[in-house]
Amino acid sequence: MITTHIPGYPRIGARRELKFALEACWRGETGDANLLRTGSELRAAHWRRQREAGLSLVTAGDFSFYDPMLDTLVLLGCPPLRFGFDPQRLTLRQYFELARGNAGQPALEMTKWFDTNYHYLVPELSAQTRFDGGPDWYFEHIAEALAAGHPVKPVLIGPVTFLRLAKAGGGADRLVLVEPLARAYARILGRLRGMGIEWVQIDEPALCLELEPAWLDAFDRAYPILAADAPALLLATCFDAADEHADRVLRLPVRGIHIDLVRAPGQLAAWQSRLPADRVLSAGIVDGRNIWRTDLRRALALLQPLHEAIGNRLWLASSCSLQHVPVSLSGEQGLDPEVRPWLAFADEKLEELRVLGKALDGGTKSVLAELEAADAVLASRRTSRRIVNEEVRARLGRLSPADERRANSHPQRSVLQQAQLGLPPLPTTTIGSFPQTPQIRATRAAWKRGEIGELQYLDAMRAEIREVIARQEALGIDVLVHGEAERNDMVEFFGEQLWGFCFTQNGWVQSYGSRCVKPPVIYGDVARPEPMTVDISRFAQSLTEKPVKGMLTGPVTILQWSFVRDDQPRADTALQIALAVREEVADLEKAGIRVIQIDEPALREGLPLKRRDWNGYLDWAVRAFRIASAVAADETQIHTHMCYAEFNDILPAIAAMDADVITIETSRSNMELLDGFGEFRYPNGIGPGVYDIHSPRVPQTEDILRLMRRACGVIPLPQLWINPDCGLKTRSWTEVEPALRNMVAAARQLRAGLAASDGTGPAA
Ligand code: GLN
Ligand code: ZN
Repeated sequence: MITTHIPGYPRIGARRELKFALEACWRGETGDANLLRTGSELRAAHWRRQREAGLSLVTAGDFSFYDPMLDTLVLLGCPPLRFGFDPQRLTLRQYFELARGNAGQPALEMTKWFDTNYHYLVPELSAQTRFDGGPDWYFEHIAEALAAGHPVKPVLIGPVTFLRLAKAGGGADRLVLVEPLARAYARILGRLRGMGIEWVQIDEPALCLELEPAWLDAFDRAYPILAADAPALLLATCFDAADEHADRVLRLPVRGIHIDLVRAPGQLAAWQSRLPADRVLSAGIVDGRNIWRTDLRRALALLQPLHEAIGNRLWLASSCSLQHVPVSLSGEQGLDPEVRPWLAFADEKLEELRVLGKALDGGTKSVLAELEAADAVLASRRTSRRIVNEEVRARLGRLSPADERRANSHPQRSVLQQAQLGLPPLPTTTIGSFPQTPQIRATRAAWKRGEIGELQYLDAMRAEIREVIARQEALGIDVLVHGEAERNDMVEFFGEQLWGFCFTQNGWVQSYGSRCVKPPVIYGDVARPEPMTVDISRFAQSLTEKPVKGMLTGPVTILQWSFVRDDQPRADTALQIALAVREEVADLEKAGIRVIQIDEPALREGLPLKRRDWNGYLDWAVRAFRIASAVAADETQIHTHMCYAEFNDILPAIAAMDADVITIETSRSNMELLDGFGEFRYPNGIGPGVYDIHSPRVPQTEDILRLMRRACGVIPLPQLWINPDCGLKTRSWTEVEPALRNMVAAARQLRAGLAASDGTGPAA
C-alpha cells in the first residue's frame, strides 16, 4: 500500500474557532481551560478528518496556539533571556507574552515565512543560548494523537531552518549553536521514539534558499547527532527546488525526503535517479499553496512511472502544509456554482490524496468514477466562457513599449507638475486611509446586511469624506486624500469590482497568531467593466482647491494577496490587472484628478526564494506597475507607497517603476532605511515616513524635525516629502489629529529655516 500524508493541517478551524477562543482568552473573558479545550477539540477533529479521508499517517505537532516557530523555541527551552522566564516552567500566559509583548518587553519580532503570507516569530539567540528543553506541551499533543488510536507522524521544524530564521544578538554567529541544538533535537527525537513513534517529519524548507556553504555544512554537522537514537526521519522541503543538494541530503542519516512537485516539478528526475534503495520519496503533488482542484490525470501521469520505479517507497502528499489554504469548501454556500467545483480546500485535498493513492495501489480502474468526475470539472474550467476574455487579451496585445513609458523623464515631468500643483518645498501628505471609526464599520455592516440601501451607504461615506477633507484643510496638509472610508480592504475593494474575481464566505487563512485573511480568488481574465473610484475621487476633489490623491492598489499587490489562477503564468495575470488599473488611472485623470497614488506594499514580498530568480520576477512586476501608471500625462503626478521592507537590494527596480513620488516606512528605523536611497542617488521624489503608525504614541514636532533633518542629510531637499509611515486606518482620531498637526508644524519650521537661509538646506 502506498503511504499518504500531509505536511500539516490548518490549525485555525473551519469557522476560526481558534481565533475566537484566543481573543476571548486575551480579553480575559474566558480562562485558559476554555482555550485548552478548544485546542484539543480542534486537534481531535483535524486528526479524525485525516483518518476519514483514508490517509495512512496522521500529522501531529503541527497545531499551535500562536506560531510553530515559537512552539519550537518553547520546546527547545530557549525563550529570550530578556523576558526572565523559567524555560521549563513556562506558562501559557508567558507564551502569549513572548508572542505579543508585555508591559516591560516588546514581543518577539515577526516576519514572513519564506514566500508565504504567513508570519512567524523570530527566535532570539546568543552564543550562550542553552537548549535544555521546555514544558511538555509538544509531547502531550503527540500522546493525545496516539491515545486516539491514530498512526501518528509528528512534525518538527528542523534545526537548520530554525537557526537560519533566528537572529543572534551582538553579531554572534548562529552556526556555533549547531551542535548543542542538534543534541537538543536528539533528546526530543529519542523521547518520540520511546513513545513508539516510527516516523518523524522534520521540516527544512531552508534547503530551498540559496544557502552559503557553511549553512549547508550545518546539515552534515547536525543530522548525525540528532538521528543517533531517532525514529525514521522524513526530511521535508517545500516552496522551491532542493535538488542541487540531493547528493548531500541523501548522505544524511534520514530515511526519506519530501519534495514540492507543484512549485518545482523539474527536480523529480534528480532525486529519483539518486534515491538509494532504502529511502522514501514523498511526492508533494497536491498544491498546498493554492485552492484549485488537482488535475488527477496529469498527477498520475507523473506518479505512475515513479511508482513503477520505486514501488511503495513512493509516498503521496500535499506540496507543503495545508495551513496556507482554507479548511473546507463545505462552508461555501455563496460561491458561484460554476466556479465552486473548480476549487479544493484542505479537506478536499485530503480526498484527492486518497484517490491518487488508490489509483496507484489498485490501478486507475479502481477510481474511474472519481477520475471521470474530475475530468468533467477540469473540462468545464478549461472551456468556461468566464475564463477567457478575448477583449482583454487583444488590448494587452496592442500595448507597445511606448505605452509603458511616461512621455518625459522625471525632472521634466516634475516641472510641469509643479506648475499645476504649486506645492511648497517639503510638501506634506498622508498615505491614504484615515481612521476606520466604529461608526464607519457599523454603517458598512448595516449595508452588507441589507439594513440600509446603497444610496444611504454612499451618503454616509460622502459625509465621512467631507469631514476628512475639512480636517486636512484645517491641519494645513498640502496634498489631501479622501480617507478610504468606503474600503474594507485594499484588495477586496478592487476585486469586487473587477471581472475574473470571486470571494469566499469562510476562506480564511492564518496570517499570524489569531489574525486571518480571506484572499479573493482570481479565476479568469481580469477586466474592468466600469470605473471603480472615479465618482468618489471626483466628489472628494470637488470639496477643495487643494489636490486630492486618487487612490489605487497596484497590480502586484492585488496579485500577491489573492489566490491566483494556475492555468496561466502569474506574470500574465499581473499584466491583466495592470491594464485594469491603467484604465482607472486614465479615467481619474479625465475626471480632473492631478495626483494618483498606486500602492504596491507587496512588491518586495513577491520576490522568489532564490536570488537567481529575482530578475525574472522584477522584470514583470515593474512592467506591470509601468503599464498601470505610464498612461498618465506628464502633468499628472504618480505616487506609490510601500510599507516597511528591505529596499536596498531592489533599488534599481524601484527606480525603474518611475513613480514621481514614493512614500515608505522609515520612522522606526530612524531613517536608516533611507540611506540606501541616498547612496543609490534615487532620482525621484521620496517621502520617508516620520510617524510610526503602528504605535499609539503621538510623535512630537521635535521628533519629526529630528527625523527630517536626518533625511535632508541623505536626500536632496527638492526631492523630499513629509508623511506618515503608512495608512492611518487602524489609529484613532485622538492620536491622528495631534500627530498630523505636529507633522505640519515641523514642515513649516523647516520651510521657515529654508527661507531664512540660502535655500540649499534647512537651518539646523
Ligand atoms: N493606501 C493604503 C492606506 O493608507 C495603503 C495601505 C498599505 O500600505 N498597506 O491604508
Ligand atoms: Zn504601508
